[in-house]
Amino acid sequence: MRLYTLPAWRLRWELVEGGGDPASYVEQVYERIRLFEKTLNSYITLRSMEEVVEEVEQQVREARRGAYKPLAGVLLAVKDNIAVEGLPNTCASRMLSKYIPPYTATVVERLVEAGAVVIGKTNMDEFAMGSTGETSAYGPTRNPWSINRVPGGSSSGTAAAVAAALATIGLGNDTGGSIRLPAAWTGLYGLKSTYGLVSRYGLVSYAESLEQIGPMTRNIMDLAVMMEAMAGFDPRDSTSLDYTPSRGVYTAAVERGEEGARLSVALLEDMVEHEAVSEDVRRVVYRAAEALEEMGAKVSREKVGRHVAYYALPAYYVIAMCEASSNLARYDNIRYGYREPPRPWEGWNTYYSRVRGEGFGREVKRRIMLGSWMLSAGYKDQYYVRALRLRRMVRDRLLSLAERYDVLLLPSAVTMPPRLGEAITDPVKLYMLDTVSVQANLSGLPALTVPAGKVRSIPLGVQLMARPLGEPRLFTAASMIATATGLHDLIAEPVG
Ligand code: GLN
Repeated sequence: MRLYTLPAWRLRWELVEGGGDPASYVEQVYERIRLFEKTLNSYITLRSMEEVVEEVEQQVREARRGAYKPLAGVLLAVKDNIAVEGLPNTCASRMLSKYIPPYTATVVERLVEAGAVVIGKTNMDEFAMGSTGETSAYGPTRNPWSINRVPGGSSSGTAAAVAAALATIGLGNDTGGSIRLPAAWTGLYGLKSTYGLVSRYGLVSYAESLEQIGPMTRNIMDLAVMMEAMAGFDPRDSTSLDYTPSRGVYTAAVERGEEGARLSVALLEDMVEHEAVSEDVRRVVYRAAEALEEMGAKVSREKVGRHVAYYALPAYYVIAMCEASSNLARYDNIRYGYREPPRPWEGWNTYYSRVRGEGFGREVKRRIMLGSWMLSAGYKDQYYVRALRLRRMVRDRLLSLAERYDVLLLPSAVTMPPRLGEAITDPVKLYMLDTVSVQANLSGLPALTVPAGKVRSIPLGVQLMARPLGEPRLFTAASMIATATGLHDLIAEPVG
């Protein structure tokens, strides 16, 4: 049986109840890694198969004995900025190439408790700064649906690995679209939850007021199962909400969607007709609106206005760079770093600038410098404070819409994935790829990517947004689209 093709919820059943062989599942996945990883470059660290087999067997044994393990034996790919004790945590940066965290992120702990087994740490844009996966110090990841294109970033490796079934489920993080954009370009489901719903403990911060860790899967039910295991209050994260979803709320919401539901949907017209959005993308968003209607939803058209559609992007980049410049100050190669000792005649200032110059890549350095400059005396009001004001306006507008409708529908990506090397040369071109992603982060609203069409045999996702803690509605709507279009459990067979 081809166990690697199964969604996590079915796989768990096969392994625990159906007599499926845990070792042969792991062997199948490693066989795919052997075939495709050279092309894709999706992992930075891969654990040994023997170790992984042992842990998968252990998880399945415990589940067979009756332990509650909704993800028993399921292989999990973890983005390389989320700590797993004992495994390198490079953030795809030379600066952290030698860093091995002595602790595990809360989300990983919870998923392992639910039965998952970490298979490895995935490639990404350096410090999660980028939208294509190409700023990695470990080389770019390729899109398994079309290997000359990027998979999207910054959670590029998790996206490619899960889409090509080099893992069954994955973790990414989303500061300004890093889960939703790669999910949209690789045929996956991906969720950036309400700010504070998922613990950030163990995530290397880039811009902490914007980001959340989140799941990436080939199936909407798997996304719900992962969220039920991950979400909820964590005393170790001071921004964690005092809220824990009750068991079964998200999976029940998915089931409701399979039957169809009378949701009210706002199609965000000026986001779909935005000049940055391509014709291909528009067509798929309208197709998703039809799919929702077929399943019983009532779709209305709304406009978000210029602040949300146009000014959110510069506001996001100002805030993100300012936070980045302060977060990345700690990488001085002494407290953290790749540990090249100072030269005997070198002063501290020379030493810091030399090692920070060598340790960080171009894009990261650009953001540290711009962020520090924008926070400097005399400029702060012009940039940072103004961006915060815009952030408030974006939030107010989206909140008022999200309170009037069950879900908002908009694109998840503005174009189809660029070819390797195409977007990375011009920073503004790169930033423009986030035109429709950053609003959810600025406002803290939950947002989900769901595959809704294919363009020249590459899958393309659309985005759903809801009010704070409105995740159940997102799961219902996504499940309605999945049922109507049949676009789930897609597996890429990379060639080349
Ligand atoms: N592309 C955006 C940026 O570079 C978002 C990245 C992310 O979500 N981590 O800031």
